[in-house]
Amino acid sequence: MAQIKKAHQGLRTSKALLAKLGLRPRKRLGQHFLEDPAIIDKIIEEARFHKNDVVVEIGSGLGALTIPILPHIYHLLAIEKDPLLINILKEKFPFEEKQKITFISGDVLKLNFEEIYEKFEQKVRIIGNLPYNISSPFLEKLVINRDFIKNAILMFQYEVAQRLIAGPKKKEYGALSIISQYYARISPLIKVKRDAFYPKPKVDSMVLEIDFEKPYPFQAENEATFHRTVKAAFSCRRKTILNSLDRGMVSVPKEMIAKALIKCLIDPKRRAETLTIDEYIRLSSVLAPNNRAAS
Ligand code: SAM
Repeated sequence: MAQIKKAHQGLRTSKALLAKLGLRPRKRLGQHFLEDPAIIDKIIEEARFHKNDVVVEIGSGLGALTIPILPHIYHLLAIEKDPLLINILKEKFPFEEKQKITFISGDVLKLNFEEIYEKFEQKVRIIGNLPYNISSPFLEKLVINRDFIKNAILMFQYEVAQRLIAGPKKKEYGALSIISQYYARISPLIKVKRDAFYPKPKVDSMVLEIDFEKPYPFQAENEATFHRTVKAAFSCRRKTILNSLDRGMVSVPKEMIAKALIKCLIDPKRRAETLTIDEYIRLSSVLAPNNRAAS
């Protein structure tokens, strides 16, 4: 511990601190540390924290975001999978500040958001410079736990961020865009060049806000069928919507799919990427098992 404390003195960058401690960034854990103070300030500004907020930080690393968040909020839960880093981070805070932080050494994919919600009696806000390799399972976890979460300010690989915010007719528009935008309003906040990190990743990034308090204004009658319809539609991008759905929804006869499309005023020759979220919601309602008989 004394060695860690000494290493902190006078060292402002992650690169310098890791070098002093004889550590290397771990690729397997997606360790790319934010080094650009202007980007860090911008993320904190865009997050618009409130003094009563309970915030969960994903992958706190060496504290590039942890330290500047703390003065703005009520309590921070910092979760980090690398036990070495969480011990280093703990040493950065004086005793009084430590009272405002719960350090969790572990995997965020196993974190129990309901327990946190019950403990603090409020929905949490989430922030994180996400390790790229967990963005898909973590997004799924967010959706499942959306009743306990206000919003999430997250850094994604640029290409994944483009898929999350894409609308119809864009080449990035797909099942991920539709299902994510159904559960939350997703807004682009900051484009971040790869130079802002140490070590420098191979791609640029983007910070998005995922607001679970503003889901899509219309609800699907049957969410399981909505998911199935969207996934089937994009199972074969080059086919018409009729043929993709026929291929992807094996238990529904093709004539029934054709009828459902006509009923929703969707030309069966259109492609999946031209349909709006509204159209997928309507189509999934007609295709829901309870309604199929009537169509
Ligand atoms: N927040 C720091 C920053 O911005 O400099 C570090 C960001 S780095 C991109 C991602 C961090 O997430 C790393 O510190 C890594 O060890 C941690 N991490 C990786 N997988 C994780 C997981 N499943 N659960 C929690 N933390 C994880």
